[in-house]
Amino acid sequence: MRPQILFPLFTDIASLKGIGSKFEKLIIKLCGPKTVDILWHLPYSLIDRTYIPTIAQAQEGKIASLSVRVVEHFPQKTKKQPYRILVEDDSGQMIINFFKVYGDSIAKNLPVGATRFISGKIESFNGMKQMTHPDYIVRPEDAQKIIGIEPVYPLTAGVSNKMLGKLAREALARVPDFPEWLEPNFQKTHNFPSFRSALLQAHFPKSLADIEPNSLHKKRLAYDELLANQLALALVRQKVRKQVGRSLKGDGHLRQKVLADLPFSLTNAQKRVLDEISADMESSYKMLRLLQGDVGSGKTIVALLTMLNAVECGAQAAIMAPTEILAKQHLETIKPLCDKLEVRAELLTGRVKGKSRKLILEDLADGKIDILIGTHALFVDDVAFKDLACIVVDEQHRFGVQQRLALSNKGNNADILVMTATPIPRTLVLTAYGDMEYSKIDEVPAGRKPVDTRVLPLSKLQDVVAGLKRKLDSGCRAYWVCPLVEESEKTDLAAAEERFQSLQKLFGNKVGMVHGRMKETEKDAIMEKFKSGEITLLVATTVIEVGVNVPEATLMIIEQAERFGLAQLHQLRGRIKRGFQASNCLLLYGYPLSDTSRSRLDIMRKTEDGFEIAEKDLELRGGGELLGNRQSGFSEFKIADMSLHKDLLYTANKDAKMIVETDCSLTTPRGQALRILLYLFEQDDAVRTYLAG
Ligand code: ADP
Ligand code: MG
Repeated sequence: MRPQILFPLFTDIASLKGIGSKFEKLIIKLCGPKTVDILWHLPYSLIDRTYIPTIAQAQEGKIASLSVRVVEHFPQKTKKQPYRILVEDDSGQMIINFFKVYGDSIAKNLPVGATRFISGKIESFNGMKQMTHPDYIVRPEDAQKIIGIEPVYPLTAGVSNKMLGKLAREALARVPDFPEWLEPNFQKTHNFPSFRSALLQAHFPKSLADIEPNSLHKKRLAYDELLANQLALALVRQKVRKQVGRSLKGDGHLRQKVLADLPFSLTNAQKRVLDEISADMESSYKMLRLLQGDVGSGKTIVALLTMLNAVECGAQAAIMAPTEILAKQHLETIKPLCDKLEVRAELLTGRVKGKSRKLILEDLADGKIDILIGTHALFVDDVAFKDLACIVVDEQHRFGVQQRLALSNKGNNADILVMTATPIPRTLVLTAYGDMEYSKIDEVPAGRKPVDTRVLPLSKLQDVVAGLKRKLDSGCRAYWVCPLVEESEKTDLAAAEERFQSLQKLFGNKVGMVHGRMKETEKDAIMEKFKSGEITLLVATTVIEVGVNVPEATLMIIEQAERFGLAQLHQLRGRIKRGFQASNCLLLYGYPLSDTSRSRLDIMRKTEDGFEIAEKDLELRGGGELLGNRQSGFSEFKIADMSLHKDLLYTANKDAKMIVETDCSLTTPRGQALRILLYLFEQDDAVRTYLAG
């Protein structure tokens, strides 16, 4: 349960004063639905209202606060003209302009003869100083209230800085002095303020230095956030670690036969990774290992050898793919190899139904099936193994962290290998998986031809189509990829369909189209046609991103390539990099092209190394977006910034490890404080699931 001390922060923002229902919606969109969300919405700049010149001294372009007397009003004659007011002090005169006039508010606020304290930007027009729509107009006795530094918040239309500042002050008033969760010596050496005072400093900066992400108070907050993240992952991991696994050490007879049968020998990277996996499986701990390997690095054979280790021990293994197509593809690779070994491999997806499903389930329960290949349908309730000892999850970043860990409860203390084709920089591995053991296939099989990648403007379309025709005529297969992003799905889909139709005019029934809106069965049918060669040009939105293997496809054209993320482009290009033939990738861009987009496309042209691309992407965009965060399940941090706070992450990682080692159920005073931290950063799942009591 959430600690009581946090209750005031976990109320709806509607509980804050002055939020009407319209404003509420805007704030929810901008910050989030809860009071605590406002705390994380930090100012990014400030306005200095400590400059108090006379009218004569006031410098153009600066924000000035000055005391003036109202001399005369000049109401607007036409709508286009401003309502002007002449004001003065002992040094001179200036004009205040209003383009919007609400009733008699101006006359009331600025009566002739009165003295007022105003604050805003000094401008000059026809040699006369002026101020348009002052930010503040107050009575002289209230001047002190506005002199000072004003935080500037990220805003959205309909929400003013003043409103947000007010909300923030209200939310901040609800932040109590929490018991300190940082280790005292650590806090001292880093000179970190308390959480509350760090938050106050972040919201009320005194100078631009206070805005910097590397100011002490921002670092403290970033550290808190990272510590919550790392501690949650460490707790999960501890739980998994405590579960006794089984020692699996096969005699190698099946694996040796497969290896002897392969037309190639394993790369050194594959061998090393297999050694790491074998060591895990042999130990009495339960394996939970992440295997990273770029597209085409040869993960499937590693998965098969891993599963065969379990089969050699007389147990069963399963491999789970994110889609039907991929499951079938695994079957096509794995089954022929298994047949020769008299190891029985079968496919079970949601589409295997009726009698054949019943038979498979029976044989599975009897232990007659050794390796089961499928989608997540493998883990519905009626699927019972006789003795499942090894699970491979070919995840392609589709399964969430929690889901993946839930898996560890299936099977008979099964060892788990999670494979991902998305190159993830170390920092992101840490924030998404914590200290999950991890292996990397950092080498592709020798002899692969590089992809010839070119970047072209869309205006070259005619040449591109002519080149495409030549390729298709010579018997090759090609992808034509159009973007489809959620925000502009309708227009994107229309554009993709239009492209499909225009290509169909040229190439007739040799063209097919798949997009994310189609039914899984429809998609599969088209994909099958593309695989068999009935279709030779496949127009697709990004659905082909996920691991589909058509070795004959050697040309990929990506339209509006600037709209794709680097990781996505890399995955897409991986689709034509599977054979030993030369292949081509054309990245077509539209105008205008931003500098960042240009750099991104340039990186694609220069390198095919997924890890290098991922690191560059991180530099260009910051971590959150790297994998297209929505589908990836990678968290975006509220305060921490992975391009700046890497060191803090590593420290938080060590800290979390130490905490779990010394106080694994968080019962010491510091442990209790850390529970608050976990809830504050909404790691509720970790606490509920992995901490007893
Ligand atoms: P991915 O890691 O993308 O899943 P795959 O396992 O599908 O890659 O392997 C891609 C291709 O490379 C397959 O055709 C596979 O047979 C081949 N392959 C795998 N390992 C090697 C190797 N060591 N040498 C040569 N080819 C290999
Ligand atoms: Mg694969």
